[in-house]
Amino acid sequence: MNTDLIHDSFDHDHLWHPYTSTHNPLPTYKVREAHGAVITLADGRELIDGMSSWWCVIHGYNNPVINQAMKSQIDSMSHVMFGGLTHEPAIELGKILLDILPPSMNHIFYADSGSVATEVAMKMAVQAHDDPRRTDFATIRSGYHGDTWNAMSVCDPVTGMHGAFGPALPIRHFAPAPACKFGAEWNPADFAPMEQMLRENKETLAAVILEPIVQGAGGMRFYHPQYLRELRKVCDELGILLIFDEIATGFGRTGKLFAWEHAGVEPDIMLIGKALTGGYMTFSAVATSAKVADMISNSRSGVMMHGPTFMGNPLACATAIASTRLLLDSPWQKRIKEIENLMRKHLAPAAELPQVAEVRVLGGIGVVELKEDVNLGEFQKKCVEEGVWIRPFGKNAYIMPPYLAVSDEQIIHLCKTLVKLVKS
Ligand SMILES: *Cc1c(COP(=O)(O)O)cnc(C)c1O
Repeated sequence: MNTDLIHDSFDHDHLWHPYTSTHNPLPTYKVREAHGAVITLADGRELIDGMSSWWCVIHGYNNPVINQAMKSQIDSMSHVMFGGLTHEPAIELGKILLDILPPSMNHIFYADSGSVATEVAMKMAVQAHDDPRRTDFATIRSGYHGDTWNAMSVCDPVTGMHGAFGPALPIRHFAPAPACKFGAEWNPADFAPMEQMLRENKETLAAVILEPIVQGAGGMRFYHPQYLRELRKVCDELGILLIFDEIATGFGRTGKLFAWEHAGVEPDIMLIGKALTGGYMTFSAVATSAKVADMISNSRSGVMMHGPTFMGNPLACATAIASTRLLLDSPWQKRIKEIENLMRKHLAPAAELPQVAEVRVLGGIGVVELKEDVNLGEFQKKCVEEGVWIRPFGKNAYIMPPYLAVSDEQIIHLCKTLVKLVKS
């Protein structure tokens, strides 16, 4: 094997990768191309993708329909400003989204990335209350909402980035992560700390923000839908807005098109991103109820104070339209159920291992939680040797393949390799 081909020295010496040091960063693997559920390295080796490039790739890489939609859009216009101008891709995407988002959602703000969507949602909540005392936020531990300033402030204070920024970050209100698991029996005591926290701070809280049902990058936890029903009731009573961050859970990943459907309660503000473009490019949207839009429009400033350069980018909208149509026209629900069953069966042997704390599967997400942190560098090297791409964080080794591209055999290989590597 020629390691120069896959471990590039310029990259090593000059390029930052996510959460890395410039001093002896772990090796990166150079990718030549990717098709379907397979990533091909520069030296020709093929890896089955178990990560969906961090939750976003659902149709696989190089999908011909999405490729064609993007090429057609480029030939008419890649971008025009959204200030004072509009275009068919933005309008059409808006119609598609309002059809599939919670029924009370009525207005859409297009943003650049998941983190920016979080910023926009938090700004909306503050503007909606239009009350200098009501500018704070509550959330649950083990959450993840992005890497920009306010998004960081509501990420889990331990697994998140609070340690690195200390007093530079606003201090938010954190309730414990819900302990009742998805599928287990509901225990009303689970919600008590959140309820108490909300009641004690009702005069200063603008909103509660959390990921419904599945907490992703902050802990890979699946919790009980009743938690959200209780939360909705108390938020309504206290006039606190409820923000659902569905950036990771959206577009079928948990077995429902959006995770709120597991609980049947709607948020006031909802964030989508990641799989919105099928994993082709960065893009996100913030949806609100008419009530929230009215509150903002009735505020002293009277306008929603955000307007990025690439807002409503036509190329991103066209990509999102193609990806979402393709998803809705596919038997996604049946396929995710099949994948869920395959992962349950083939990850189950890991539950017997002494190194393993828990195995859990929901929709297209399979998690093996270990008792100790995974050695990332070693784990990745072994994965590549076994022909799979899995990137654990902390104690969680998990797989979530591009569910509309991956074959049964590929899923079984991903599961078996994960179990084998956990054992070794
Ligand atoms: C990834 C993620 C974000 C941030 O999205 P970016 O596009 O990486 O900025 C926010 N919230 C959740 C739940 C996410 O999974």
